[in-house]
Amino acid sequence: MSEDAPQPPTPEEERPTRPAILRGFRRRCPNCGEGGLFQGYLKVVDRCPVCREELYHHRADDGPAYLTILIVGHLLAPVIHIGFTRFRPEPLVMATVLTVAAVALSLYLLPRLKGLVVGIQWARRMHGFGKPQ
Ligand SMILES: [Zn+2]
Repeated sequence: MSEDAPQPPTPEEERPTRPAILRGFRRRCPNCGEGGLFQGYLKVVDRCPVCREELYHHRADDGPAYLTILIVGHLLAPVIHIGFTRFRPEPLVMATVLTVAAVALSLYLLPRLKGLVVGIQWARRMHGFGKPQ
């Protein structure tokens, strides 16, 4: 093996993607899984309160909102079809139920999907997450 060949990352440098994604989905720090990822509903903390990992490098932007729309739409579209063809509810009842379901599901998923995106970015060392301190 020549000395110019790229060296495999040391264990300290490895950042497994799957645990980081799961920790982010649980709204926890992708590094330690203990500290909270958010202050408030969607604001990512600058540093993990437990392991002090810098988290302000994230650039989630509109990605979590797109993912939320994608998932909520695909979950509720069959509900609309089945609900209407089987039960024939009053239009106002159906609109009310679907609106409440869509809003509740979106509010549930949005911070979790933002944590997931931040976890991916942290594990892949995107947007400054991989720079030495
Ligand atoms: Zn942490």
